[in-house]
Amino acid sequence: MSSSPEILSFEAARHLVEEHAKTLRPRGRELLSLLDAAGRVLAEPIHADRNIPPFPRATRDGYAVKAADVQTVPANLEVIGEIKAGTAIGELPPLASRQAIAIMTGAPVPEGADAVLMIEHTSGDGDRIEITKSVSQGENIVPSGAEGRKGDLLLPAGTRLDYAAIAAAAAVGRSRVLVHAKPRIAVLSTGDEVVDIDVPPALHQIRNSNSYSLAAQIHAAGGDPLILPIAPDEPVRLRELLAEALDCDLVLIAGGVSMGKYDLVEQELAALKAEFFFTGAKIQPGKPIVFGRVSCGAGTLAPEDRQQHKYFFGLPGNPVSTMVTFEIFAKACVQALAGLDPAPLRFVHAKLKTPVQTKTGLKRFLPAQLSGEFENAEVELTRWQGSGDIASVARSNCFLVIPPDREQIEAGDWMPVLLR
Ligand code: AMP
Ligand code: MG
Repeated sequence: MSSSPEILSFEAARHLVEEHAKTLRPRGRELLSLLDAAGRVLAEPIHADRNIPPFPRATRDGYAVKAADVQTVPANLEVIGEIKAGTAIGELPPLASRQAIAIMTGAPVPEGADAVLMIEHTSGDGDRIEITKSVSQGENIVPSGAEGRKGDLLLPAGTRLDYAAIAAAAAVGRSRVLVHAKPRIAVLSTGDEVVDIDVPPALHQIRNSNSYSLAAQIHAAGGDPLILPIAPDEPVRLRELLAEALDCDLVLIAGGVSMGKYDLVEQELAALKAEFFFTGAKIQPGKPIVFGRVSCGAGTLAPEDRQQHKYFFGLPGNPVSTMVTFEIFAKACVQALAGLDPAPLRFVHAKLKTPVQTKTGLKRFLPAQLSGEFENAEVELTRWQGSGDIASVARSNCFLVIPPDREQIEAGDWMPVLLR
């Protein structure tokens, strides 16, 4: 029923999604305390408020010296004092020729010193020390401003606040940060057989798991899910719920996109004059995936805040298909709406533990178990009964990616893996 029934390769479909994701912008910002902002996306750049480090910093326990004094070893220097981390800059004794000052890691290096000798290369701890190894100028000192000068950009807007970014913000005194508002993502499950999880299902009914897996995936991607009531396989109610869904920033529909007589999603989207970018991808699971957009009316928002189009994904309703197609396609749009710069999808590699036999033609993302340790990652398919087998994904920790041209894959081959 689509206006452009195109089935693309996985890569072409993914690139198309990335191109469109680049046009999406978050709506709204909020000021949060630093820890409440963990996992959120910065809506402002964060700059160094002073040099980092603010003073030349010793990176070893030892002695601050003039490198020229210890070029010939053994050398013997007079010890004139001690500097610990926290010693005020005004209290640092200046260093003259043939003198050394005991210094601790993290302490400021005094005027006149240009290297720090590691304590391991000295002997004696009274007024004099004997030096057994020379140092070069600058050794074991991080100069003031070497990690960032006052005013330097440390974190650009669009950075996700992971623990390292949180540390960088903390290091420049940002107890509050401006982050992007979370996008609202509509989740619309469809199907006459699908029922809410808190009603006892009749034998022919299936509990709605897709809305819940999607909500959890949306959370993890930085969005706020809005779970709508289940849409029956009937055009009038489906249309009503689609209209409601289109109030959100992105619409995810699960089910109803296959070729069956009661798969009405594309038909109802077409009635809204939707533009379809693809109506299938050469993947398994998830082949009937649909991606497109509908244009929005003028609305009440200012032009710069208005989304000209609302994007939607029609995700195949088989639970594993729904999960996989979210991860490989829809997630990129949620992240973009959350303020993240869209990033290419990357797989890691692991050694196949047991041989795999498959058919060519589709790129496969199959539930699998990543094991091994350190550099020896191994991967093995999880037994499954096909794209309805939720428990097999729950027992897995990754998806093994099988290129469309591989039929027989031997144990020991390095294979791409999509982590989760
Ligand atoms: P569909 O894509 O609508 O043809 O559905 C494919 C399969 O997924 C069918 O077996 C459905 O019963 C099942 N399914 C569809 N939607 C859901 C859902 N929300 N939760 C669990 N299973 C579903
Ligand atoms: Mg259905």
